[in-house]
Amino acid sequence: MTTPVLDVAGLKVEIPVADTILRPVRGIDLTVHRGETVAIVGESGCGKSLTALAIMGLLPRSARLTSDRIDLTGESLSGASHRRWRQLRGDKIAMIFQDPMTALDPCYRIGDQMSEILRQHRKVSASAARERSLELLNKVGIPSPEERLGQFPHQLSGGLRQRVMIAMALLCEPELIIADEPTTALDVTIQAQILRLLRDIQRDTGIGLVLITHDLGVVAGMADRIVVMYGGEIVESGACDDVLAKALHPYTEGLMRSIPVPGETKAGETLGFIPGVVPRQTGDLTRCGFLERCPYAHVRCAEGPIALRGAGEGHMMRCVLPADGSGRDPTAWTRQPEAAL
Ligand code: SF4
Repeated sequence: MTTPVLDVAGLKVEIPVADTILRPVRGIDLTVHRGETVAIVGESGCGKSLTALAIMGLLPRSARLTSDRIDLTGESLSGASHRRWRQLRGDKIAMIFQDPMTALDPCYRIGDQMSEILRQHRKVSASAARERSLELLNKVGIPSPEERLGQFPHQLSGGLRQRVMIAMALLCEPELIIADEPTTALDVTIQAQILRLLRDIQRDTGIGLVLITHDLGVVAGMADRIVVMYGGEIVESGACDDVLAKALHPYTEGLMRSIPVPGETKAGETLGFIPGVVPRQTGDLTRCGFLERCPYAHVRCAEGPIALRGAGEGHMMRCVLPADGSGRDPTAWTRQPEAAL
């Protein structure tokens, strides 16, 4: 078995705030192999982005990170110094952020920002850095790349800026790229282009890709595996096709109900939704974290925290319901969750 590009176990993040301690990430296990795309899916506030920032060593200073293991290409990063994280970021691991306008420095030309990354991590001349930057801008399909190198971020469209971010992530040929909602700030046609570009690059280079999104529709045809997060925990994970064909956790089911199905959803038909909002994550969980929003909630769900368990080959779920998907009343989604307590 080859060493995974990323191997994370028991990742927790705690953030002290005025009156309490927030626990937005409650013990995440995540493995990514070379050439694999793993999608982390969930609503805003489920802990996806903080999980990514923890893996990148980019948590805010006030946050406390604990883990059983964070290994990047076999190197243990538990307790790594800030200096070591800085050496790895942009080199072995890179991140594509949601909004390139805020991720790029508005005061520097594209070419200068790209060259700086290369010269931080590689001993290259200014002309070699420029050549490499041009090569990458070409690779990500930016027209007139020589001209773009001399421009500032505000002179580019949103789609071009995101292509620049992808080119910057690829500069040092990283082993792993984390793309955090890389298409959310773009319009629909550009979204499709960017996703296709990411998929092609991943296929060509064999890097590991972690794709963070709130949209299950985005991961179809893109991801090998799906990890569904809710309330800082993994509530379901498995092969992409398995999870999309047979979502077992009620939260995943709710996410699936909220996207149109080509050929099935009729024009004007109201899409499903999950009632309520993601609760603020504080204290230890003493029952299922999804209980207040779950249409199938019953007394057993409140008896204690729910463990992640096997539900088929490589398929895991954190729920007391039968793993064969039986015993669910589909009309339950039209009612408010039962008061199970
Ligand atoms: Fe719903 Fe209970 Fe399953 Fe939680 S454990 S998701 S409340 S059925």
